Amino acid sequence: MDIKKVGIVGAGQMGNGIAHVAALSGYDVILTDVDRDRYDQAVKTIQRNLIRQQAKQLITEQQRMDALQRLSYGKDFAALRDVDLVIEAVSEDEKLKKEIFSQLCPLLRPDTLIASNTSSISITRLAASTDRAEKFVGMHFMNPVPVMELVELIRGIVTDRETFDISQKFVASLGKRIAISEDFPAFMVNRILLPMMNEAIYTLYEGVGTVKDIDAALKYGAHHPMGPLELADFVGLDTCLAAMQVLHEGLADTKYRPCPLLVKYVEAGWLGRKTGRGFYDYSGEQPVPTR
Ligand code: NAD
Repeated sequence: MDIKKVGIVGAGQMGNGIAHVAALSGYDVILTDVDRDRYDQAVKTIQRNLIRQQAKQLITEQQRMDALQRLSYGKDFAALRDVDLVIEAVSEDEKLKKEIFSQLCPLLRPDTLIASNTSSISITRLAASTDRAEKFVGMHFMNPVPVMELVELIRGIVTDRETFDISQKFVASLGKRIAISEDFPAFMVNRILLPMMNEAIYTLYEGVGTVKDIDAALKYGAHHPMGPLELADFVGLDTCLAAMQVLHEGLADTKYRPCPLLVKYVEAGWLGRKTGRGFYDYSGEQPVPTR
């Protein structure tokens, strides 16, 4: 089967990035979200990012215009009845994702593949909540999708060979590199990255250093492009917490215990950049540390 039409569920920061690269690579894309405003915001973000790519001469004006033409809004899941592949990119909440699959599956063609962009949740478990576990795969894009080179591909226990081959072909056609991971909590990238960010939050919590110094330590001491707290704000603190909880529960090792300060920030609704406040306050021109 050749993928031509792609449906994306969730028009948040990841959904809009995936829609951007898929449309730019020639796929027809239908983007859905419970919240119409999120779709409108997503289109604005995609327009802005395409203009930036054009200014850097990475794409032509024609490519930019064609990509926008290939993008449309799906009012509900019925709009996805004719797609070849659905990529789910809603919030990192297993119950929500499963609910979505149960509503979505009866409306899809039987041969439609489903991919989840989850950062950490078991692909095998998500697949089992659908009517097509063998056609289900983990497709973990990195943030920001138009810029980052990698997609982690995760094979669930039941994923069949054809689905995995088609998924590899699809990801390669987006111009991305692939790293294949077995289905273990948080896969590879976040198994390594998340405990580092969590440790940085412990370092702040225990008063070892300030937000500024912790970020400077890793930026200038280890050549990381972003400090770990800056990165946590960028990823979204709710997503970081959810992934740490998956690691903690899935691997039953206390070394993955989410830092209580991370839990508090999420409880306060301080989710990082997307809410304007996390380890930094983003309301002014320059981010200012909040501690
Ligand atoms: P986000 O909060 O920016 O977006 C989530 C979107 O899901 C929102 O627009 C919300 O309206 C929508 N949504 C919620 N319920 C819905 C429903 N019932 N139907 C349709 N849409 C619904 O989150 P995000 O950062 O884009 O993360 C999305 C997924 O991608 C998560 O699974 C996350 O773990 C994963 N991911 C995130 C990152 C990152 O750096 N943020 C990186 C890789 C993967």
